[in-house]
Amino acid sequence: MTVAVIGAGMAGAAAANTLSKAGLQVEVFDKGRAAGGRMSSKRIADGYLDLGAQYFTARNESFSQQVSQWLESGAVCYWPAVCYRFEHGQMTASVDKTARFIGAPSMQTPVKALLATLTNHFDCRVSRLRFVTNSSNGQKNGWYLFDQHNNRFGPYQALILAMPPVQLQTLLVTACQPDEPGYSELQQLSAQIQPQALLPCWAVSLELAKPLQTAADAVFVKEGNVSWLARQNSKPGRGNTVDNWLVHFSPQCSALHLQAEPAQLIALAKAELELIFGQGIDVTDALTHRWLYAQINPAAEQVLVEYSAGLKLAIAGDWLLGGRVENAWLSGVAAAKGVLADV
Ligand SMILES: Cc1cc2nc3c(=O)[nH]c(=O)nc-3n(C[C@H](O)[C@H](O)[C@H](O)COP(=O)(O)OP(=O)(O)OC[C@H]3O[C@@H](n4cnc5c(N)ncnc54)[C@H](O)[C@@H]3O)c2cc1C
Repeated sequence: MTVAVIGAGMAGAAAANTLSKAGLQVEVFDKGRAAGGRMSSKRIADGYLDLGAQYFTARNESFSQQVSQWLESGAVCYWPAVCYRFEHGQMTASVDKTARFIGAPSMQTPVKALLATLTNHFDCRVSRLRFVTNSSNGQKNGWYLFDQHNNRFGPYQALILAMPPVQLQTLLVTACQPDEPGYSELQQLSAQIQPQALLPCWAVSLELAKPLQTAADAVFVKEGNVSWLARQNSKPGRGNTVDNWLVHFSPQCSALHLQAEPAQLIALAKAELELIFGQGIDVTDALTHRWLYAQINPAAEQVLVEYSAGLKLAIAGDWLLGGRVENAWLSGVAAAKGVLADV
C-alpha cells in the first residue's frame, strides 16, 4: 500500500514513521525547506534559536518510550530550566518540576530522525488534491497531489493530512467536484474543522549586551502582553555564547499586532523584558517571527473523525488532541493506526 503524508511536523513524521515501520510505502510532502514545522530552530552565527516550540514534556507511556529512544540516540536532551512565574507583578519560582526535553542540537532533530529513511519532498507546497474513485477515463483510483508548480504525484492508496486546520480546510475542498463520489463526505469533514483552533504568536529574540541579572532560565508570564520568556543560552548544546532572550507574545496581543512591523514588536519586547525583570537592557541584535497558527485555542472544541475508510483519508495534528508536541506525536500515530487497520 502506498501512502502520502502531507506535513512534516511532529504529527506527520510520527504517522509516516509508524506506517513505514509496518512495511507500507510512504512519501512525505512539506512546503518547508526541511522537516520540523512548528518545532523549528533558526540557525544563527554561533548556534540555534528556538522560535517555535520551546520544549516538550512526556506524560503518555508510548510517547515516553519514544522520548527515551531519542535520549539514547542523542536526538533529544533534558533542559534543566530554572522556571519562574510572573503574576500580579511578582516573580515566584515555578513549582512545576515536570522534565522538559528539547531537540539536540536543534528542536527539529527528533522530527528529522523519524523521517530519516523515508522519501521526503521538501519545498513542495501541495496546493490541490484529487480523489479518484470509479474512474471512467482509465485513470487509476486513489489520491493525487499537485504542488505549486502543478507537478502531479500519485496515485496513493491512502492520504494523511497533518497540518494546521486552516491549511487543511483549504486543501480538502479541492479534492472533489460536486457530482463526484466522496464530495459530500469531504464537505462534511471540512465543515467540522474549526479554523480558529490555533491562535497566532509573535516570537521576538533579543540579544543583550550584558546578561540579565536573574536566576531564571524561563518565565511563564500570566498577565499583560507576553506569555513566555526563555533564556536561549540556558539550553544545552544550542551554542549561543551571548545572553539571548526569546519573548512569546500572548495570543491576544499577537492577534492585535498581527500586521505590525517587526521593529514595533522588538520595541515592545524590550519594554516588556525591562518591566518584568525591573532592569534596563541594551539590545545588540533582534529578530522576529510571526506564527499565524501557533498554539491551541482552549475555546475551540475539535470533534473530528481521525480516519475515514470511505475516503482512505486520515487527519493528524496537535490541535486534534489539545495542542503540544506530545499530542502531535500521539495524533500522528493514531492516524497511522487508522490507515493500518484498513489495509
Ligand atoms: C510559538 C510556539 C510555541 C510553542 N511552544 C510549545 C511548547 O513549549 N511545548 C509544546 O509541547 N508545544 C509547543 N508548541 C506547539 C508545538 O510546536 C506543536 O504542538 C507541534 O509542533 C505541532 O506539530 P504538527 O505536526 O501537528 O504541526 P506543524 O508542526 O504545524 O506541522 C505542519 C506541517 O505542515 C506543513 N504544511 C502545511 N500546509 C502544507 C501544504 N499545503 N503543503 C505542504 N506542507 C504543508 C507545514 O509546513 C508544517 O511543516 C509551540 C508552538 C509555537 C508556534
